[in-house]
Amino acid sequence: MENIIIVGAGLVGSLLSVYLARAGFKVSVYERNSDPRQINMQSGRSINITLSERGFKALDAVGAADVVRQLCIPVYGRIMHAQDGELTYQPYGNNKEAIYSIGREDLSKALISFAQKHENIEFSFNQKCIDIDLPTATLKLQNLKTGEITQVQADRIFAADGAHSPVRHKMQRLKRFNYSQEYLEQGYKEIIIPPGDDGSWVFDKNAIHIWPRDNFMLIGFPNLDKSFTLSLHLPYEGEISHDSTASGDAVRNLFETYFPDIWLLVEPNLTDYSHKPVEAMVTIKCFPWSYQDKVLLIGDSCHAIVPSYGQGANAGFENCQLLTKCIEQHPGDWQTAFREYETLRKPDMDVLADLCLEHFTVLRKMVGDPKFLERKKIERKLQQMNSEFASLYYNISFTCMSYSEALRIERIHQEMISQIAENNIKREVSV
Ligand SMILES: Cc1cc2nc3c(=O)[nH]c(=O)nc-3n(C[C@H](O)[C@H](O)[C@H](O)COP(=O)(O)OP(=O)(O)OC[C@H]3O[C@@H](n4cnc5c(N)ncnc54)[C@H](O)[C@@H]3O)c2cc1C
Repeated sequence: MENIIIVGAGLVGSLLSVYLARAGFKVSVYERNSDPRQINMQSGRSINITLSERGFKALDAVGAADVVRQLCIPVYGRIMHAQDGELTYQPYGNNKEAIYSIGREDLSKALISFAQKHENIEFSFNQKCIDIDLPTATLKLQNLKTGEITQVQADRIFAADGAHSPVRHKMQRLKRFNYSQEYLEQGYKEIIIPPGDDGSWVFDKNAIHIWPRDNFMLIGFPNLDKSFTLSLHLPYEGEISHDSTASGDAVRNLFETYFPDIWLLVEPNLTDYSHKPVEAMVTIKCFPWSYQDKVLLIGDSCHAIVPSYGQGANAGFENCQLLTKCIEQHPGDWQTAFREYETLRKPDMDVLADLCLEHFTVLRKMVGDPKFLERKKIERKLQQMNSEFASLYYNISFTCMSYSEALRIERIHQEMISQIAENNIKREVSV
């Protein structure tokens, strides 16, 4: 039986271990952090993520969807909070389609526990990859508890070690390895709003709440314990920024001016706000994703995206399924399997990365914009009239069509919507 090493027991690494073990390989997963089931993990990453159709399909294919579903809250649409407190609801679909909000930590623990049930999967925690020899698929590890350094070798190594992947760093030194990274000019800090005094949700639990304010925004996700996680997205520097809201008075001023409807809920929960680091969001593209038939990058290590569509983990899960299919189609021919996988998936992940950057601006700037809302209204009417007419968000979140195909359809739809909007304006003017 071939031995496989996975670096990183994050969301993608854990699910990938299940796919590979089921395909008949012996899998060892090395993770630098402690076992999240034994500690209160403070990764600094977002507290919530949302799962959608393609993520669930990939979980379902290995029987992991049910355990995950129990930890989720369905979210049927967005509620926009205008500065004057007015609320606008945008359903995600016409048939109560939902995305699912889940705690990152809950998901991570569930996937590790699910994977550990498989006899051919072994997890080692507190083992940090400090180097890799690509041609021999040999990993140098440091035990972060004891300091001990060891080497492990496998037939193949899969690097699911996240956006700052040490394995990718090593590959970046190879000739003809393409790499780019781009940070958003905005960063975020999270604020937890506990349940109300009577133990109930403080906002509608089945919606994502957005306070779009042009160059900045607040976004809220429901949690299973009836709390909400708010992410405050601000530019790093400038008039309204993380820099300018370093003091408690400045934060109060920001909320009282731009988010007055929730200041009273936020105020008691700001005790550690000023000490929290500002979290960054990055887009990473690179190619190739593989080194010969020995090493493959997977997940954020080769395609980190900004979270505006909530797709990073969903796409990563989908990729575990696609990769396994390629491996099974080319038994023993790993190089062909890797090539096929990366060639198939790279264009889609590039499309998704660009769409996510665009959508970030949409969420911040245009969700509260009357012209945008008018276009959304037209889009919904078209959807009601013709069930084939699905929005880009719909195709990304509620179908498993490729991201490139979703973009192709969207271009056609936007052209139609522009024409209808133009005709509406002409009609209004002539009336
Ligand atoms: C703010 C925010 C919100 C998001 N929201 C969503 C969402 O709603 N929906 C969605 O689908 N996606 C979302 N994402 C994206 C999602 O979090 C990532 O795409 C996903 O976590 C990628 O999984 P991964 O396993 O590739 O990487 P990670 O989850 O980052 O896991 C990498 C693992 O590798 C380990 N590791 C790193 N270096 C080493 C080393 N040297 N040795 C050993 N182990 C190592 C890390 O400790 C970690 O456990 C969001 C991301 C952000 C930042």
